[in-house]
Order: sequence, then C-alpha cells, then structure tokens
Amino acid sequence: MALHKGPDRPDQRPASVNPFYGEANPVGGMTEAPPQHRLPDSPLPPTTAYQLVHDELMLDGNSRLNLATFVTTWMEPQAGVLMTECRDKNMIDKDEYPRTAELERRCVAMLADLWNAPDPSAAVGCSTTGSSEACMLAGMALKRRWSKRNTGGRPNLVMGVNVQVCWEKFCNFWEVEARMVPMEGGRYHLDPQVAAELCDENTIGVVGVLGSTFDGSYEPIADLCAALDAFQERTGLDIPVHVDGASGGMVAPFLDEDLVWDFRLPRVASINTSGHKYGLVYPGVGWALWRDKAALPEELVFRVNYLGGDMPTFALNFSRPGAQVVAQYYTFLRLGREGYRAVQQASRDVANRLAGHIESLGDFELLTRGDQLPVFAFTTAPDVKAYDVFDVSRRLREHGWLVPAYTFPPNREDLSVLRVVCRNGFSTDLAALLMDDLQRLLPELRRQQHPLGREAARATAFHH
Ligand SMILES: *Cc1c(COP(=O)(O)O)cnc(C)c1O
Repeated sequence: MALHKGPDRPDQRPASVNPFYGEANPVGGMTEAPPQHRLPDSPLPPTTAYQLVHDELMLDGNSRLNLATFVTTWMEPQAGVLMTECRDKNMIDKDEYPRTAELERRCVAMLADLWNAPDPSAAVGCSTTGSSEACMLAGMALKRRWSKRNTGGRPNLVMGVNVQVCWEKFCNFWEVEARMVPMEGGRYHLDPQVAAELCDENTIGVVGVLGSTFDGSYEPIADLCAALDAFQERTGLDIPVHVDGASGGMVAPFLDEDLVWDFRLPRVASINTSGHKYGLVYPGVGWALWRDKAALPEELVFRVNYLGGDMPTFALNFSRPGAQVVAQYYTFLRLGREGYRAVQQASRDVANRLAGHIESLGDFELLTRGDQLPVFAFTTAPDVKAYDVFDVSRRLREHGWLVPAYTFPPNREDLSVLRVVCRNGFSTDLAALLMDDLQRLLPELRRQQHPLGREAARATAFHH
C-alpha cells in the first residue's frame, strides 16, 4: 500500500452533495454535507454515501485499458457471483468454513500436479494474497534452511537485477544481502554462469524468474540448475532454486509443455505464482508450493486452535477473504487444461501480432515479441530523435491507454522502454484500436523538436 500521510491542509469545504442524493427529502442530503478528512459526526443515508463514493471513483482509469498491469481485469459473471457469496468467509477460519479450506487444498494439489511435483501427495503449499507474500514465504524457507546448515556469516540471495521489487523487499525486510546479476548488452535477465559465480556458502538460494517483469522473457531455469549442479561438483555446496513464476507459472504449463522449468528439475525447491495474473482471478490471490516437506522447515508452520480445530498454516496474514480462493477453484474447474491453453494462446497471439505491427511502423525496435509471456517491450529506433518512449506513454494516455515507460536497471540504464501486457480480455479488436491511436499520434510525435522530458510520464508505474 502507498504509505499515506495526512491531508496537506485541513478541509476547506465538505464533500458536495447533490439534492437528488437525499432519500425522501431532497433537501435533507444538502444539509448533511460530510467532511472529507475526518470522520463525519453523523450518519448519511446509504444512497447518499454510495453516490458520493461512486462518483469520485468515476475518475479512476478503466482497468481493461491498463496495459501496465499483469492483474486480471475481467472475469465471468458466475465468478463474480461466487465471490460475492464468499466475501464474508475468512480463509483462516478453516474449521468454520471447511469446504473453502478443502477447495484451497485441491488448488494446491492441482498446481503440484501441473508443475510436475515428483510426488504430488508429498508437495506442500498454501494460498497467499499474491506472489509477493508467496515470495516472502519461499525466501523465509530458504533462509531457515540455510541457517540450519550454517553458523555466522551474512546470508545472501542470488538473482537477476530484473527481479520484481518483492525480492528487494524480501532482502530488506529479512536482512539478506541481495546479489544481483546485472543485465549486459542484449541480455535482459539472469545469466546462469554469472549467477553461479556469485554463490558461496552463505547463499540461501537462487531465484529464477519465469516471466521477467521488465520484458516478459523467461529466464533459463534448466540452465541455471545445470550451472548450480556444476558449482556443487566443484564446491560441495548444494544451492536450492526458487522459481518466481508469478506470471509464467500459469502460462508455460499450457503453452510451452516441453520447457523444463518446474519440479521436474530436482534443484527447484519451491515455486510461486499469482492466481490473480495469468491464473485469471481478480486480485488478491497467490500460491506458494514446496516440492516436499523437507523444503519447508517444520518450525515455520504455525498451528493455532483459537478458532476450533487444529490447522497448520504458513502465511504472513491471519485473516484473509476466501472469495479469491473459491474463484481460483472455479476457474480451474471451469477451464481445465484445454481452456487455460486456449485463453493463454489467445493472449499470446494478440501480443505477437501487436508486437509485429508496432515493429512494422519503423519507429520502434522490439526487445521481446510476446512469445514467452504474452508481454513485450519495445523502444524507439536509434534514428528517432524527435520523441522518446516517455512521450509515447504520455500521448497514449490521452486516449485512455496506460502503456508504461521506464528505464532499465544496471548495466542497461541507458535503455528506456515501453511495455504492453496482453491479458485475457485484451482482444484483437482492442489491440487494433490501440494501433489506430498509436498511428494517429506518430505524425505529431515526429514533428516534435526534441523529446519533451520524462517528468510527466514518470507517474506510470510498471511494477505490477
Ligand atoms: C507481479 C510479480 C510479483 C509480485 O506479485 P503480486 O502478486 O503482485 O504480489 C513477483 N514476481 C514477479 C515476477 C511478478 O511479475
């Protein structure tokens, strides 16, 4: 969450209330204009309160046109109904809501099977609020396993500099040194050899990302494991790998069945995914799985009986809504493997085609083409001097499209890109409309004297 501070200045005026908002007496609503930055003294009629909140939210962007986010922005009405039916169920209360707990258990079993756990009945896992929490849990398990082998020394975690910000958070919050493999030239993610060279006896693990946030590329997980096998032969050190499959964990099993990245690799100790990204569920649900009990130290698992019954849990939160977990189970049941394959293939097709069209404009160079995650990044061609990616992002926003522009991390800070995340619901038709808008803007952009500066575009976040 954004860390909010108080208002800059006290309320100068209360919220403005339209006479129509009053329930029976239209003038009543007007006499009860509530303040905006302190709790009102008295209640409002629900219709008035609803209308006030609703009207303010009209100014939020349209989530379907947000090509920055990986998070699901469309679900079927039936999923919405189930979520409404379950919004009062607390996920932690497994004794009171045993069927919700059972659906969570089945989802874990389905993911263990999908990710080829050698013995799905031995795999352990849990739902979370998203991949960030799942990564915290996986990182904690790695750290605890390391601390049992070692005394003293400062733990470190090896990863590509392209990791999602949650890994920097993990290292900061849990006091682990982040050892980052920089980007070089046209390599925008981790290099297995360089990663192995950064490892030592205090390395708690190496993170491989299936689906880099920066450009949608898959990191070479099998090569990473092979490099760590060779490292083990040289040094005797057995370094586990965690796969951050926030997006790719729900894409690769359906579209890239021959790609070996999951529990088929013995070195892969744990995997996370975001149910609310290509898992196709509204935010917030994620999943963390460990290949077996040995990968998740028993002492991290808590057992409480405050709510009746005795249920082992591993989570940062206590209370959490059950609706998203139920919606995940619904989506698994509804789509099955074939359904997921069709949905993800449609997103990949849209990404491929859109990337090709953008390339054919001649003004842009593609870094990726959307053939791994249905996500691609592109930058301006070297001879484009009149405008930059930040100008493109800002101008597209005028048409309602949110296409983020950002600079790359070391050693490619010189590179700034635009990124498009194609998701379920971003159809070929919508992609054609985006192309129309981009093509309409180009003559004006080309006529600029020089790029107009990035400040205005900076506000577009991309770390989703
Ligand atoms: C989105 C993402 C995360 C964080 O996931 P949330 O579900 O948003 O908490 C972590 N890693 C990667 C690679 C991601 O793409």
